[in-house]
Amino acid sequence: MIAHIRLLRGIAAGMALLATATGLWAQTPTPLLVPVEQPFDFYSTGEYREKLPRPETLLGYEPGEAYAQYGAFLEVLETYAHSDRVRVFPTGATNERRPMHVVAISSAKNLRRLDDIKAANQRLADGRAELSDREIDRLIAKQPIIVWLGYNIHGDEAAGTEAAIRVLYELVASESKTVKAWLDDVVVIMNPCQNPDGRERFVVWANAHGLGRPERFAYEKENPWNVQGRYNHYYFDLNRDMIPTSQVESRNSGAAFLEWLPQVAADHHGETKEFFFPPAALPINPNLPRESLERWLDVFGRGNAAAFDQQGWMYYVRDYFDIFYAGYWDSWPALQGATGMTYETSGGGKRGFNYLRDDETIMTLRSAIAKHFTASLATIATAAAHREARLRDFREHFVSAVKAGREADLQQVWIPAGTDPHRTRELVRALRRSGVEVQTTTAVATLPTATNYFGVNTAEITMPVGTFVVDMAQPKGHVARALLEPDTAIDDAFIERQQEKMKRNRDRGENAPDDDYEFYDVTAWTMPLAYDVEAYQVGAAVNFSGDVIGEVVAPSVAAPPRATAAYVIRPGTEGAVRLALDLLEEGYRVATAVRSMDVGGVAYPRGSLVVRIERNPTSLHERIGELARRHRIEVGVANTAFTESGITGIGSESTFALTAPKVLVATGDGVIPSSYGALHYLFEETYGLEFVPVAVDTLGSIDLRKFNVVVLPAGSPHHYGRLLGDGGKSNLKTWVSQGGTLICLGWATEFAIDADTGWTSIKRVGADDDDDAKADDADGEDEPDAEPLPVPGAMMRTMVDHDHFLSFGYEQDELPFLVNSDTFFTASETGFNVLKFPQENIRLAGYVWPDNTERLIGGTAAVVDEPVGRGHIILFSDEPGYRAWWHATTRMLMNAILYAPGLQNQTGGYSR
Ligand SMILES: [Zn+2]
Repeated sequence: MIAHIRLLRGIAAGMALLATATGLWAQTPTPLLVPVEQPFDFYSTGEYREKLPRPETLLGYEPGEAYAQYGAFLEVLETYAHSDRVRVFPTGATNERRPMHVVAISSAKNLRRLDDIKAANQRLADGRAELSDREIDRLIAKQPIIVWLGYNIHGDEAAGTEAAIRVLYELVASESKTVKAWLDDVVVIMNPCQNPDGRERFVVWANAHGLGRPERFAYEKENPWNVQGRYNHYYFDLNRDMIPTSQVESRNSGAAFLEWLPQVAADHHGETKEFFFPPAALPINPNLPRESLERWLDVFGRGNAAAFDQQGWMYYVRDYFDIFYAGYWDSWPALQGATGMTYETSGGGKRGFNYLRDDETIMTLRSAIAKHFTASLATIATAAAHREARLRDFREHFVSAVKAGREADLQQVWIPAGTDPHRTRELVRALRRSGVEVQTTTAVATLPTATNYFGVNTAEITMPVGTFVVDMAQPKGHVARALLEPDTAIDDAFIERQQEKMKRNRDRGENAPDDDYEFYDVTAWTMPLAYDVEAYQVGAAVNFSGDVIGEVVAPSVAAPPRATAAYVIRPGTEGAVRLALDLLEEGYRVATAVRSMDVGGVAYPRGSLVVRIERNPTSLHERIGELARRHRIEVGVANTAFTESGITGIGSESTFALTAPKVLVATGDGVIPSSYGALHYLFEETYGLEFVPVAVDTLGSIDLRKFNVVVLPAGSPHHYGRLLGDGGKSNLKTWVSQGGTLICLGWATEFAIDADTGWTSIKRVGADDDDDAKADDADGEDEPDAEPLPVPGAMMRTMVDHDHFLSFGYEQDELPFLVNSDTFFTASETGFNVLKFPQENIRLAGYVWPDNTERLIGGTAAVVDEPVGRGHIILFSDEPGYRAWWHATTRMLMNAILYAPGLQNQTGGYSR
């Protein structure tokens, strides 16, 4: 079997065989001529050090015949680590305990003074330091340029790490003058595998199932649900994570990046039809120094082009890879002062070991590796050639950031601890992980005027001691502004092009396919809105006394004194939810007051947790003290049930027992992997909530009575319907009516409103049975769109209904909501619309389509509870917890899990 595989791949790799010549496609009518493509020679630069074994010797096969498993890769790394041109730095481990590294490669001479190089680099990056021209000249004269080469962030774009092995060997073993000269001028920081867990899932699968068949329909091109090598352990796309940096791989790589602060960064992906490298497409993040960025992308792009032209290889630039969203591994490095670039190779990964192009020539994994290898070396060569000029512009990046911060219309952002200090600290930690300098105030300060993130101006706001302040006049000002500005401007030319497409699409015939829009990702990522954290923008910097912070430490919380009646905890914080879940899980009895209540003269909001002494064992006192300290949550003490005012106290009729949640999460085929993954991460890492993942098609055949919560992550409504079948649907419906809580997220909501389930009265806006939209259709000539256009991740204003348990802990009237789809839902006529979009003034940040999005979404529902029998069907039109970055509605999801199982017949009537 193995011999067969080797033979097939060897032939295809070596000769770029024609389909007809192999006899595999006998039906091909016309004989085609043999192409000229020759196998790439990885050893063309001259002599190599004999002591260092070549990759094929270490691996036991030619790279490209199979994928290197992570263990094999680590052995390669260990062997080359003995070279005097290499230093290996561990950066941490993945969720599945695979070690991660960055590898510094340079001349032995440079490696001996690596600490000095690093220190000089940081000195250049200190935009506040007033360096004389002479001092800058002196620093730059001796300073190598630092080039970051990242590989395989998407694990199934698996040519990456294979190429890293080739590049590593070339740099450590080559005795050619060219390579040695590069290493005198360049320190390469290689991140050889940015996603070891995802890559390993893919590699094991591809080695097992890859026969080397080139047919596009071959099984080996499918990458099934449980492989999904693109993502990390939690099915996160690591090339979107650099805003929250929630994932451990992002933190490992991000910290190393900030330590080395490279001038050039190339992130190696695959597989496009032909190789891609910059210049990038529009839009370009407006916080990037535009002139310098475009100039350098052009220089590096032309450097790669020359190397590819020499081989006669195809490639393209611009097209659709933009540099707008701030959390990619090209835009984020660029905001940090580097020339940040994405490279996409053609071949390998999901295209398999061999892939049939549309002209019936074959694209191979080996050629994909050769192209990444060539682009990596060309990047090093270009960096070496432009070392001095690039270093000067690198310094200018940080100097201009300080200057821009002093002059811009957003000079400071003030972030008080707010209603959930834990979440506020999480936001500040994320800023710190992007290298943003944050201060904390040491005295009360007053802001003469400031604007919150809902656009409300206020005068004379007092900020307490301990408020976090981000001053934009700092070396990392470009990053700070990219993460904190209220809305990010998109290039006019880009927007005009999308709107023209919209008009063309509207005028097209029914059967003519629509022209795709070019939004590559979400168009808003404003962190205070995403985290739902109180924050204030200040136009003209305010003086204050404060300290620059390092690590963000949570203040410790004391255990409560011993209560005689009950312990009481306010809702609205992650800590409160965690504490309640822990107590319930351990068997303690926890209740909630569904109205605001009076506890010994102290007011507690609706949804407060009541843990009564008489209903619990004496171990409660010690346990709640431990949990209060662990979750850093203040626990109140009630020594009497008597209320000083109002109608509700710890002993009143409006107090109901909660039930420990037993949670099932649907998974596997039909479910969007990243939606399931975000829940996995949220439950396991953030809330410590146990759950049972169950395949969708198993849901119909198991006894659901073991659970009181079922979550359907975002997924294809069609697949949900088909995989569940009639049995699954009726099983779920019976279970809900008997008291179960079914939670549908995003696209899964569309499945729930499928007419034949009869679960809810809401409808999809623009659907055939949406009467309002139909009325629009009847208007005649210039009818407006009845169907929503896809919203590329914009933040919208919603109105909070305080009459429901889902909004416990949300005492504000407005809440930001992430809209990232083309599916809007009419308000429910039978249940509770807990979050609803207002009729106007809806957009907070990001792109919405003129005369479409806001008109169609106004008055529709974002979060709905449909009471069914004794249970609930809770619908979220978009995903809470999206990318572990969208926090604003996450507690609402947790409210559903914590409160709904206990409040089966007690849905509403909880006004403040
Ligand atoms: Zn990729």
